[in-house]
Amino acid sequence: MSTKHSNKINKIRTFALSLVFIGIIVMYVGIFFRNSPIIMSLTMLLGFLFVIASTVVYFWIGMISTKSVKVVCPNCNTTTKVLGRVDACMNCNEPLTLDPELEGKEFDLKYNRKKS
Ligand SMILES: [Zn+2]
Repeated sequence: MSTKHSNKINKIRTFALSLVFIGIIVMYVGIFFRNSPIIMSLTMLLGFLFVIASTVVYFWIGMISTKSVKVVCPNCNTTTKVLGRVDACMNCNEPLTLDPELEGKEFDLKYNRKKS
């Protein structure tokens, strides 16, 4: 498994999950500041914000998931979601493209940017 080509939706999902963990860790750190209510409530608030942010990111994933195109990966024959012009398979990280022009070319995320 290469980390270079990974599916975008999976990447965002990992990001959202790490936000939850950061939030929990920040709130946990706050427990050590029991003696100072200001620091404790600040860390609690910050941790809470991280959790809220991850909820927003999860919601955003839901939004973009509906916009992404479902394709069957030619490599592992599973249905995967392609976001943008090029993306990697969710299952096997096989580079996939929706643009016939890019077929056979080396996988590069910069193809997602619009050409001038
Ligand atoms: Zn695949």
